[in-house]
Formats: sequence, structure tokens, C-alpha cells
Amino acid sequence: MRAAVRAFLSEEHAVGAFEPRCDGWFNGYSPEFSRKLGERGWLGMTWPERYGGQERSSLERFVVLEELLAAGAPVASHWIADRQSGPSILRFGTEEQKRRFLPAIACGECFFSIGMSEPESGSDLASVQTSAERTDGGWLVNGTKIWTGGAHLSHFFIVLCRTSPQSKGDRHTGLSQFIVDLSVPRITVEPIRLVTGEHVFNEVVLDGVFVPDELVLGEIGAGWEQVTSELAHERSGSERFLSTFPLLVELVRVLGEDPDERARIAVGTLVSRLWTLREMSLSVAVALETGAAPEVEAALVKELGNRFEREVAEAARLLVPSEPSFEASGPFEARLAEATSHAPAFTLRGGTSEILRGIVARGLGVR
Ligand SMILES: Cc1cc2nc3c(=O)[nH]c(=O)nc-3n(C[C@H](O)[C@H](O)[C@H](O)COP(=O)(O)OP(=O)(O)OC[C@H]3O[C@@H](n4cnc5c(N)ncnc54)[C@H](O)[C@@H]3O)c2cc1C
Repeated sequence: MRAAVRAFLSEEHAVGAFEPRCDGWFNGYSPEFSRKLGERGWLGMTWPERYGGQERSSLERFVVLEELLAAGAPVASHWIADRQSGPSILRFGTEEQKRRFLPAIACGECFFSIGMSEPESGSDLASVQTSAERTDGGWLVNGTKIWTGGAHLSHFFIVLCRTSPQSKGDRHTGLSQFIVDLSVPRITVEPIRLVTGEHVFNEVVLDGVFVPDELVLGEIGAGWEQVTSELAHERSGSERFLSTFPLLVELVRVLGEDPDERARIAVGTLVSRLWTLREMSLSVAVALETGAAPEVEAALVKELGNRFEREVAEAARLLVPSEPSFEASGPFEARLAEATSHAPAFTLRGGTSEILRGIVARGLGVR
């Protein structure tokens, strides 16, 4: 499996289909590349064959993802659909939804975004204000979602809404999830540009959007349990420590065959940490394979992994006397620019470090 993915990546690289880059799973949008992965059976790999999957193990999927991330491949178009929207539909969706969406995701033809955060709700997700009200044949959704990565390029997003008021003492009741078609009327998708000018994020305003009953995901009122299960997929993967791996590769290349002692110690420290993170992440993949819910372990991988991703950027900056530059004077400067400009987001996206440490503390019984 690993050899096949490496051969594919080196052929694609050789024909100029992509340039390795940091954070390619976040902003390396290439529908064409996603379709090529779909043709090879590398999307929806673990899903049942009747829904377009390959019935492969989580470990085989781990290998494919690890190779794609290590190569800095442009995998952002399908990333969310393959990682979390598809698994949510597989777990909670109706038979009709599974047949409609899963084969299309597995082909690399249907892309999803995440509609959780709102201007006043991030870490405290249960406080979302977007509402869905019953109407004939469906629901009317009103509200604003923010930081919606790729909403301008995706076909659908899964929106967390309030469908009934919070009950006292239980903030998690009354939430529901809806699969919303991003091309329907009464949805506005406005860009929020990164400091680099890149368009990844959006603010999405839903102004009385009609969502038919057949696009309710799971049960009305069970949104909190569903979204928590989705977050486990969102937090446990190797993208949580490999975002800056292409920079580490360039750093080793630039330091050359005979680096000084300071550089040897710095790179040795990074590589040994990386290996430990990889072992931890693999053990999470094994646990998921056996049906366990390794919530604490996944939070630990993400928290330590996000710190590691930043350490790579910091070490590269300190060890090599050169300026980060998007108008690349060389691949090292370009990877350094990507890693440095994206680094502030690593410990925020998918749950902040403080929130993850809270999960670990609760899991250890000290909170
Ligand atoms: C690169 C990136 C991509 C993203 N993509 C998406 C996306 O596609 N879809 C989507 O829905 N959202 C997305 N988000 C939003 C992301 O999930 C939120 O930014 C995140 O959950 C934090 O919420 P917030 O920004 O509202 O910060 P807040 O929740 O306001 O937190 C502010 C600070 O307070 C701390 N804090 C908050 N609560 C606690 C607590 N209980 N204990 C201790 N400290 C606390 C936080 O750790 C943080 O440091 C993305 C964010 C980033 C940076």
C-alpha cells in the first residue's frame, strides 16, 4: 500500500501535478487530485463496498494519509468529506443519504465543509444560536456560521443548529445536524482572508434556508452526541502533527550532509518527537479499529502534535539564516513562509489546546 502511494505521488510530482507544501490538507485545494485518489480507491477506504468504499482497515487508511501528508500533497478538497462528514453519514445517515453521498465522496466528486463555529460560539459549541424551525416538508434554517473552511468550493456542509430551546441543567439537548446544499438560494458565502491573503475561510449566512426532511442527519435532538463523535474523527489523525513535515524535509536538505552540533541536536530532537507522536497516533488508529473511543489519547496526540508542528517552524527559523518568502527564492523559504504564517492556527482549529487539555484532565479524573 505504502509503495503504491509513494509511486503515485512521485509520478504526480514529476509531471508537475503538485508542489509539496505545508498544510496541504487545509488549503491545498485540487478537485482533480482528489478525483485521482478516488479512482485509486484511496477515499472512503474503510467504508462498505456497497457505498463506494474498499472495506480496508483503518491502518491501511493511516498509511495512505501519512504518505499524502508527508509529501505535502493537495488534499484539501476532499479532506473533510473523507475524514468526518462521510463517517458521520455512514453512522447516522439514512439509507438514502448513504447511497446518495458516500459513493460520490469516495469518487472525489462531492466535497463537504464543517458548519459548527459561529461568531459567538467556538470552544463552547453547545451555545450555537443558528436555529432550525419546522415547516412543511422540512426545516427553515437561520443563522451565521464562521471560519467555514472551503465553503466556497464545497458542495455541502453539515450545520449544527438549535431545534428546541436549551433545557435547564442540560445544555446539550435540543441540537440537531442538517446536511445543507451550499448552492441553494438564501445562503451567502463571504470570504474571510488569511493574513497571507489566501481564501480558505468564509462566513456563511443562512437566511431562512429550506432544508428538506431527507437532509436531516440522524435524529432531531441528538446533535450533541453526533457532533461529539464527529470531533473524535476530526482530532485523532496524523494531519495534527504532519502539517509542517514538508518544512522538516527541506530543513534537513538545507542543513546538508554535515550539520553542526546545534543543528544535529535540534533535528534529532524533532525527529524523535515525531516518531513518538506517530506511534501514539498509530495506537489511536488501532484503538478506533477495535471499536474503542480513545478520546483522551486523541486529545493528547492533537495537543502534543500541534506543539510539534510549531516547533518545526521555530527550529527552521533559528537554524537557517534565511527569510520566509512566498515569492520563493527556494523551497526552504517557501515552506518556511507557509509554516510560519499558518502556525498560529494549529492550536485553534479542531479544538484549542486549552480545550484538549481539559478533555485529558477529565479523562484522567482530575477535573
Ligand atoms: C485554521 C482554522 C480552521 C477552522 N475551520 C473551521 C471550520 O471549517 N468549521 C468550523 O465550524 N470552525 C472552524 N474553525 C473554528 C474553530 O473550531 C474555533 O476557532 C475554535 O473552536 C475556537 O473557538 P473560538 O475561535 O470561538 O475561540 P474561543 O472559544 O472564544 O476561545 C478563545 C480562547 O479562550 C480559551 N478558552 C475557551 N474556553 C475555554 C475553557 N472552557 N477553558 C479554558 N480555556 C478556554 C481558548 O482555548 C482560546 O484560547 C477553524 C479555526 C481555525 C483557526
